Amino acid sequence: MSSRSLGLSPALYDYLWAHNDEPQPLQALRAETRELPNAGMQISPEQGRFMGFLVECLGVRQCLEIGVFTGYSSLAVALSLPPGGRIVACDVSEEYTRVARRYWARAGVADKIDLRLAPALETLARLLADGAAGSFDFAFIDADKEAYRDYYERCLELLRPGGVMAVDNALWNGKVAEPSVTDRDTASIRALNAFAAADPRVSASLVPIGDGLLLARKL
Ligand code: CA
Repeated sequence: MSSRSLGLSPALYDYLWAHNDEPQPLQALRAETRELPNAGMQISPEQGRFMGFLVECLGVRQCLEIGVFTGYSSLAVALSLPPGGRIVACDVSEEYTRVARRYWARAGVADKIDLRLAPALETLARLLADGAAGSFDFAFIDADKEAYRDYYERCLELLRPGGVMAVDNALWNGKVAEPSVTDRDTASIRALNAFAAADPRVSASLVPIGDGLLLARKL
């Protein structure tokens, strides 16, 4: 089970899935991840295809990923990158990224993915210290929700003007729209959705694909 697009009937969701091509390496990774605890953290196939499509449309070469899990989103993006394209992928789990590395190698994209096993805020601070501000074309944020605003700010610095950030779980299984739900993760996601919509540094779009995707283009 992955976080399939919200609010669709089972029949319509099957139709959506059948009309979004999922390459074989992604199918295999989805099948293996399904057996793991936290399998719901994997993005849905239609979202993977959408992100690959975005990367192709935007001519992305340099990517950031905050939160790798077993590597589905990084693999979906890597398959759409041109030769020489690169993803700096941040995660703290040796165990889950071991699965990711196996599938990146099997799909022939391992040389495009630079895995940094460390807290993502440390990796982002190091990139900024090394002069990488304004050098990334695309960033995907899908890690601990309480730090979403911090990831947003660092990624905004690292993106070039015209670069796009995609923030996952922006609708959080509908909880963002239920005022009685006030836990810290939900509050953090809600706050970022509101902040981005009014942030004069970006053009934002909140999209109901998967578990909700907040897109923000740096102006
Ligand atoms: Ca997610």
